[in-house]
Amino acid sequence: MKFAVEVASKLSGRVGCLVQTETGQKFPTPLLLQTTKGGSIPYLSREVFKYLTEDSQILEICLSTTDHMEEALKAFKSGIASFVGFPEYLSFVTLKDPCEESPSGFHVKDAVPFFTRRGKKELTADRFMDIIEVFKPNIYHSLCDNDTDINSSKKRVIKSVDRTENFFKACLERHKISETLRNSLFFAPIVGGYNKHARSQSIEFVSKHPEVGGFMIDGLHSNGEHATKIPRESLKDIVSHCVQKLNTDKPKMMLGAYTPLAVLELIRLGVDIFDTSYIYLTSTNSQGLVFDYNLAAEKRSNHLALDLNDESYAEDFTPILEGCSCLACQKHTKAYINHLIKTKELLGPILLMIHNMHHYLMFFESIRNCIAGDKLPELIQLVEGCVSEETVAKEDKKIPPILEQVEPASVAT
Ligand SMILES: [Zn+2]
Repeated sequence: MKFAVEVASKLSGRVGCLVQTETGQKFPTPLLLQTTKGGSIPYLSREVFKYLTEDSQILEICLSTTDHMEEALKAFKSGIASFVGFPEYLSFVTLKDPCEESPSGFHVKDAVPFFTRRGKKELTADRFMDIIEVFKPNIYHSLCDNDTDINSSKKRVIKSVDRTENFFKACLERHKISETLRNSLFFAPIVGGYNKHARSQSIEFVSKHPEVGGFMIDGLHSNGEHATKIPRESLKDIVSHCVQKLNTDKPKMMLGAYTPLAVLELIRLGVDIFDTSYIYLTSTNSQGLVFDYNLAAEKRSNHLALDLNDESYAEDFTPILEGCSCLACQKHTKAYINHLIKTKELLGPILLMIHNMHHYLMFFESIRNCIAGDKLPELIQLVEGCVSEETVAKEDKKIPPILEQVEPASVAT
């Protein structure tokens, strides 16, 4: 695989392309990896997903939900993407599930603690590479100690950098001699929490190796909703420090459920690859995304997302987002989705996932177009407008809405 930057703006991010050299498949960046659980896109069958987009995708395969497939994959021989029913897609293999909070601690010498549905396991670099060779991903990263967040002590941060260097060295040795992984892109994890000195050390170490195909800026959160709660200023400060020191020719990836505004800020700084864990979390939390992302269209929304569990939607017979062309908005109303959520029907999160995925894929398309047209600051302003009005709306909720006061009278007549 190869990566090429096509448009780079000093203040507004960059547009590039990941190319699968054997097939010629192209993946424009900023790119969304499709987060999977047990190898499948949560709530969406292959057929429904194909209605959402015909573009080729890169699946994000987490070993914490797929490690038990190792024996079957050894016999299958064709790699994880084919095994899970997407032979035409590429695969990226990572360790932890970005949708679920990862337990902290349990460190042992020369191995990384790793939690699956069947309990805790420990992975040494060699054992990790054995699994990688069986999964045959197109992209993967070396084993790392990313167990740090904004509250980590200096000692823990430094330990994570030292341990990651050792894992990296051992994985790189195996990568260099592996015939199976000859065409796979090998990403180097950049760790060091929110400590700039530790980040510089981590970057300096991996930058010496020309075999590195890209960088994964990691160790900023413990997955799940944690990623949505990082203060934007802290995130911006540490990521801009990393990006300035990293080789500009190689792609930079950040995994986890960063909010749309955080994603825009990270893209502005030069990050190229993200995942769809935010879509999964919003859909399971009954949220329908409605923020504006189209600079040329009329303003449609004053909110980032709607809470469709809210009683106020029980008799709202309009779609999640007026004018949205997704399958959920074409056929269903907020009232029906509100009913599905309240009765805990599986179709509730399915319809939300359809809408949110469509909305986010269109958002990323708009991001790429805005960067190419040098209009990313305007897009950031548009999304910021939706979020600040949402904060005001949350405050207003304390006062009973006018509609609720009028309704009993109209029912009585
Ligand atoms: Zn929709």
